[in-house]
Amino acid sequence: MDLKIFDRMESEVRGYVRSFPVIFNKARGSELYDEDGRCYIDFFSGAGTLNYGHNNPVLRERMMAYLESDGVTHALDMATSAKKYFMQTLGRLVLEPRGMDYVLQFTGPTGTNAVEAALKIARQVKGRQNVISFTHGFHGVSGGSLAATANRKFRKAAGVALGNISFMPYDGYFGPDVNTMAYLERMLDDPSSGLDQPAAVIVETVQGEGGVNVASQRWLRELERLCRRHDMLLIVDDIQVGCGRTGGFFSFEAAGISPDIVTLSKSLSGFGLPMSLVLLRRELDVWEPGAHSGTFRGNNLAFVTAAQALETYWTDAALSEEVEAKERLVRDWLENLAHSCRDAGLGVRGRGLIQGLVTPVGDGLAGRIARRAFELGVVIETSGAQDEVLKVLPALTIPREQLQQGLEIVERSVGEVLAGEGRRSRPLKVAGGGR
Ligand SMILES: *Cc1c(COP(=O)(O)O)cnc(C)c1O
Repeated sequence: MDLKIFDRMESEVRGYVRSFPVIFNKARGSELYDEDGRCYIDFFSGAGTLNYGHNNPVLRERMMAYLESDGVTHALDMATSAKKYFMQTLGRLVLEPRGMDYVLQFTGPTGTNAVEAALKIARQVKGRQNVISFTHGFHGVSGGSLAATANRKFRKAAGVALGNISFMPYDGYFGPDVNTMAYLERMLDDPSSGLDQPAAVIVETVQGEGGVNVASQRWLRELERLCRRHDMLLIVDDIQVGCGRTGGFFSFEAAGISPDIVTLSKSLSGFGLPMSLVLLRRELDVWEPGAHSGTFRGNNLAFVTAAQALETYWTDAALSEEVEAKERLVRDWLENLAHSCRDAGLGVRGRGLIQGLVTPVGDGLAGRIARRAFELGVVIETSGAQDEVLKVLPALTIPREQLQQGLEIVERSVGEVLAGEGRRSRPLKVAGGGR
């Protein structure tokens, strides 16, 4: 495949085309096709944007009907029928059953827009500048969000000082034996710790880009308690692991916490269309009309598919149960795999259908496995501070058979890469097994 035009015309900033150097021209469900007609199983899902698969036929049908009826596609933030219907549906199927009284702020359509708005309003409400973010956190790459993003590569690109954020250690940062919440609590309680009183805390329940680090339910509950005690707002950035990725619609439901602000994006439209949303506890809504703006706050096509996605997948518990069952399958498979190549020092972590195969830091093993998997027909990415985690992120709707096929390819890639490097691994054929 001729990728020369991408090399010649596109900026060096391009990223994923380097990991997957083919030209894709078709996608259906969990399958991606390149121009040569080769099929790949998608274990990446647009970094969590395609929870319901590519070109989901139910969503597409609704969108096509909307377009053919001359439905409005762009309307700034004017009222449209599509937006009205989305709000009614989100209220009826998501917010009301959970007893959530949030107002909705529609921001520009990317995740970082939602984070910017969340940080702004938190600072306005509390009249303080500092916000706590966590090690390995990722919240986007525009100014305000970038300040809350930990990754050095992204931060270096800013070219200016990034401030008004204090980073604290995420759950497990020093290993399982150190309680990082106790550290944060001490920093907050001690008026001479040097920590300026924060307006808010921004946190991911599972760090998607930061290496599939999972915060325990207990840690999250402690964090909520600390927020209440120190008059800080709790912002949960659910952009990557919301919309069912961990089973419930919101990733924080299982912990029983009630964030003050929630950011949603990636899989919210359900179809891969850009759309972002901030949920604000009603009394935090101190915005002046129009004070946070944006031309594309009304992607009406996204409203249409988002409403349909809710109606298709969130009227009962079927999808959540499906995610749970598939989580067990992936988890067992990866654990068996890690176990069967014991000398390679592999581990597994994750929650729901975001699971990571953790390789030793610093030797690029995960990247080599991902490359081999791609050659063998699976699109899969790495994550983590040093790209040491192979991130398994299939569509929630992936057929079981395809999920197993993909896992078999991942397993084979691990085996081949380890064998090629002369690392001992036990025979891999027992790993996984048919569940
Ligand atoms: C992807 C992501 C963002 C940023 O979203 P963009 O659409 O890339 O701006 C923010 N937070 C989290 C947790 C994400 O995964």
